[in-house]
Amino acid sequence: MNEKKNKTIEKLVSLCKRRGFVFPSSDIYGGFAAVYDYGPMGVELKNNLEKAWWKSMVQKRQDVVGLDSGIFMHPMTWKASGHIDGFDDPQIDCKKCKARMGADHMLEAFGIDADKMTADEINIQIEKLSKEGKDLKCINCGSKDLTKAKMFSLMVKSNLGSPTEELSDENVVYLRPETCGGIYLNYKNVLDSSRVKLPFGIAQIGKAFRNEIVARQFIFRTREFEQMELQYFLDPKDMGRKFSEWKNIRWDWYLNYGIKEENLKWYKHIKLAHYAAEAWDIEYNFEALGGFKELEGIHQRGDWDLSQHSKFSGKKLDYRDPATNTAIIPNIMETSVGLNRMLLAFLHEAYTEEEIDGESRIVLKLDKRLAPIKVAIFPLLKNKEKLVAKAKELHDMLSDNYMCEFDDNGNIGKRYRRQDEIGTPYCVTVDFDTIEKDDSVTIRDRDSMEQERIKIDNLKSYFFDKFSSQ
Ligand code: ATP
Repeated sequence: MNEKKNKTIEKLVSLCKRRGFVFPSSDIYGGFAAVYDYGPMGVELKNNLEKAWWKSMVQKRQDVVGLDSGIFMHPMTWKASGHIDGFDDPQIDCKKCKARMGADHMLEAFGIDADKMTADEINIQIEKLSKEGKDLKCINCGSKDLTKAKMFSLMVKSNLGSPTEELSDENVVYLRPETCGGIYLNYKNVLDSSRVKLPFGIAQIGKAFRNEIVARQFIFRTREFEQMELQYFLDPKDMGRKFSEWKNIRWDWYLNYGIKEENLKWYKHIKLAHYAAEAWDIEYNFEALGGFKELEGIHQRGDWDLSQHSKFSGKKLDYRDPATNTAIIPNIMETSVGLNRMLLAFLHEAYTEEEIDGESRIVLKLDKRLAPIKVAIFPLLKNKEKLVAKAKELHDMLSDNYMCEFDDNGNIGKRYRRQDEIGTPYCVTVDFDTIEKDDSVTIRDRDSMEQERIKIDNLKSYFFDKFSSQ
């Protein structure tokens, strides 16, 4: 078996569309920039990633509880958090073709780190470059006729109330740019309604919205996405220990679900947000997008969030230690990852092109627990009633426990190829011997492609062993 290495974004996009993982939004209207829809396979993979994350972050932990807060929140939330005044990116427009570009990304190409620079600082850098004969060019049409950099808010505005009302400062609401806002606002409710004691975490999975300037990297950066976040509340004296514990937990989680360690690396932020004491990212080697890029952020946020919301709401958000009866404002550390970006990382990792005996195949070597379809069931021939009936019976039997797919389309080789491309670990074929002779089926393994004959009576325990062995 000969593995080829070249993974390109075009190949991933094509597989995603061909096999029903990811479709461009509003496809029949020509698409809608930086929004994507998840097809039958994509939604299964997304659900499996969510479940795997939730299991590790909530289900198996005694110190973490879950939450599902609304997307709309009191607009003051975003004033208090600093998002209304400062959640923006520097933008440059092309005067010729009207393309929008992130000024920080354009400077990156000249080795200048513009992270956290103001628009004025960026414009000074651009002038300097220009004096050295290094002009910025439009990444779309190559024109040098560009606007100056200006700050552009990433907040997505909407309005609630009377549909006839104009969008004004009074009725404006924001689609949340991150899910953690809902966690801070419910911190007191959770404290009062459950048995949590410091240190404890609140985890949430949900949609977030950002009016991203640069949105050309498939589902890596989209304007609507899902975040999976843990906000962990603790006494500041425990921060060092707990922070490194959580860094290890998150790193190991990726390894446990099949990401190779060589494809992960830590990035420590040098320039920090004003409230942060330490911030690290887990970067993944998105080779098809040019190399290592942020996958997940793990940050210390101090007491900024609770203090700000306490100040703006006028409500006390401290924590009284039941043993000592002293009150503190807990510090927070967070782990935050985009589910869609994570899905891209796992697809990227799993995508494999192999050459076997002169034939090539594409196979998604996804961890079995993540595979959208666990077992595919085929009748050997489409038009043989008894085979079809038996295969459907097996589908009914196994689908109680596993996501299964019945397929009678095309020859067996074609059906294997389709299942390989969607990452199905096992294919079960019902043939004439099944009915006439041995009451057994052929099971083919995705990775080794080996086949074995198993009695139908033993099928349930066979798959139980296979899927619980991880
Ligand atoms: P980036 O530097 O990539 O813009 P960020 O530092 O602004 O990301 P955070 O605000 O820390 O990101 O968000 C935490 C996580 O949410 C990121 O690590 C990423 O996985 C995910 N995320 C953020 N923005 C997007 C987006 N536009 N599309 C998809 N996922 C996103």
